[in-house]
Amino acid sequence: MAQTVLVVEDNALNMELATDILEAAGYGVLQAENAENAIALAKSQKPALILMDVGLPGIDGLTATAILKGDPGTSHIPLIALTAHAMKGDKERALAGGCDEYLTKPIDARTLLDAIGRFSQSASDLTSHAL
Ligand code: MN
Repeated sequence: MAQTVLVVEDNALNMELATDILEAAGYGVLQAENAENAIALAKSQKPALILMDVGLPGIDGLTATAILKGDPGTSHIPLIALTAHAMKGDKERALAGGCDEYLTKPIDARTLLDAIGRFSQSASDLTSHAL
């Protein structure tokens, strides 16, 4: 069964790029363009992982992350923050805010899939043992 990744991104091109990369790698994709929809989808669909754009209109990605990590229903879901603003201290702020990993844009397919793969280790371990 394909693992589902919730992609939270307000930029249509970045959303399309992330979706293409994930689907080509065999993941199912749920899309949210803002924090409100992301939180609702995370609660109702329980994705295997969340890819969170930090720069969102309204509730920003780090605030959304704090909400998700503070909710027992979603706190266990690994969350990778994505930001265009690679400012000094951003990574520390993101990780302190509850993000499990932090990547800077532009989105690179290999880097993204490697990061996601680290959180689906148990699944790939089972596969390699079976082989
Ligand atoms: Mn954005």
